[in-house]
Amino acid sequence: MKTFFSILLLSFFFANYQSKIDVADTIFINGKIYTVYENQPVVQAVAVKDGKIIALGSNESVLKSKGNQSETIDLGGKTMTPGLIDSHAHFMGVGYSKLELNLMGLSSYEALVDKVKERVAKTKPGEWILGRGWHQDKWDSITSPVIHGFPIHKLLSAISPDNPVYLRHASGHAGLANAKAMEIAGIDASTEFDGGGDVFKDKDGNPTGIFNETAQSLIGRYIPKNNAVRDQLAFEEAIKECLSNGITSFHDAGVNQNTIDLYKKNLENGKLKVRIYAMLSGGNRGLLKRFYKSGPEVGLGDGFLSIRSIKLYSDGALGSRGAWLLEPYEDMPGELGHSTTPIENIYKVSEDALKYGFQVCTHAIGDRANREVLDQYEKAFSTIDGKSSDYRFRMEHAQHLHPDDIPRFAELGVIPAMQAIHMSSDRPWAIDRLGEKRIEEGAYVWQKLLKSGAVVINGTDAPVEPVNPIECFYASVTRKTLKGTPPGGYEPDQKMTRAQALRSYTLDAAFGSFEEDVKGSIEIGKYADFTVFDKDIMNVPEEEILKTKVVMTVVDGEVVYTDGLID
Ligand SMILES: [Zn+2]
Repeated sequence: MKTFFSILLLSFFFANYQSKIDVADTIFINGKIYTVYENQPVVQAVAVKDGKIIALGSNESVLKSKGNQSETIDLGGKTMTPGLIDSHAHFMGVGYSKLELNLMGLSSYEALVDKVKERVAKTKPGEWILGRGWHQDKWDSITSPVIHGFPIHKLLSAISPDNPVYLRHASGHAGLANAKAMEIAGIDASTEFDGGGDVFKDKDGNPTGIFNETAQSLIGRYIPKNNAVRDQLAFEEAIKECLSNGITSFHDAGVNQNTIDLYKKNLENGKLKVRIYAMLSGGNRGLLKRFYKSGPEVGLGDGFLSIRSIKLYSDGALGSRGAWLLEPYEDMPGELGHSTTPIENIYKVSEDALKYGFQVCTHAIGDRANREVLDQYEKAFSTIDGKSSDYRFRMEHAQHLHPDDIPRFAELGVIPAMQAIHMSSDRPWAIDRLGEKRIEEGAYVWQKLLKSGAVVINGTDAPVEPVNPIECFYASVTRKTLKGTPPGGYEPDQKMTRAQALRSYTLDAAFGSFEEDVKGSIEIGKYADFTVFDKDIMNVPEEEILKTKVVMTVVDGEVVYTDGLID
């Protein structure tokens, strides 16, 4: 009798004990796992169930969650971090730039032709090849005959006899077509155009392939339009591009209703594999009105889509001297840049956003733009109860700040959403625009902002820069160009530590979208979003960082990308 009861008691105990340990769907073991979680900063293993983290620690402790059905993934000593979050980029732009050739940054007309040639090899005859971003003044040399300052189509036509090609100029004011495109459009020596544009012709009267201003429509009307099919293609390209770069969440800086509908459709059909935090295009009043009425949409489909912020623009960019400055440009006396949205609108949207529960994210590059926006935010905050920091308004780019304004970010709880990679790309010439003093005092001052208590979040502004987080991480911790110059980095006291850079791409980025409770670190209960690298980015020598590759991406507990190194 006694034995019977003991057995009963024992089996009762075991049944209870068993049910207390959740059985994992997947267990990741043998990793060097940086959790961005203070209590357990580095662990070996993580267990996942129903898309959430259920255990972390040593292999031994985590393997206790292993059941008959559990899958075990051996990371083989590789490095894992929380899934990376790009906190400012343009999702559909990333996709479209994959569909079109990006011709920026080329050194010659031959390089452009080579790039098109590569695409021709992968494209079916008859399909259009589109590109954008070339600029003959940025080429080192030009071997094509030059007519009216532009190259002619001959080389391009020779490598693409069967595919129509149209390549838009960086300015958007002209384009280059090949012979096939002109044939389809019925353009020849007899073509005349007098509607506010030109069909460029050589001395024999033959079209050179260049169409400027409104004459671009002669070709444009034959190019298949963006339509639902192309939108979907671009969407799928963007998903692929993000996942292969280890990006599991994406703050999409400006969407319209069309894009929201596309995301929702893909959420339903299970293709939205990157978590999107969408900012509504603030210039679209109808869109804002509708959302003010219906309120924010947060965490749709297990946290794959949230719409609770508004994107505004306050100025232009530094390169074109459109950034709005307090003092004139160093390289153009008297020029102050300009604002792009009446400042009253920034106030009005801020006030409404606070009322209806939306965050405001305003593009501001120059010190004047940053100051003006901080002023409007501050004024709007005075209309509400409670702490302004609860509303987490953001400054997109926050590139150049007056020293007096640096502490205001922390004081107001405004988040600088910065792109370290812009410093790497732009700093070599940005000093011409701003001069040494302003560069040192207030440009790309990540560490000054962090020290003042601001939460700095990171990203790429893709497709302006590649979506690659490793390059951006490198820029964050070295303040060098991607060529590794200058040796000690620009304004080295402003470098982020590797821990700060990782936080800016994970937990702090999640804070920027009010999601730090559900993602951004590897903790029990959070979404199982992970990025796996082939090198220990937190410890490898600086020059090894750029050689690091993403080898696996996990979203919601599912392996959504692997380069085959881990099976
Ligand atoms: Zn942007």
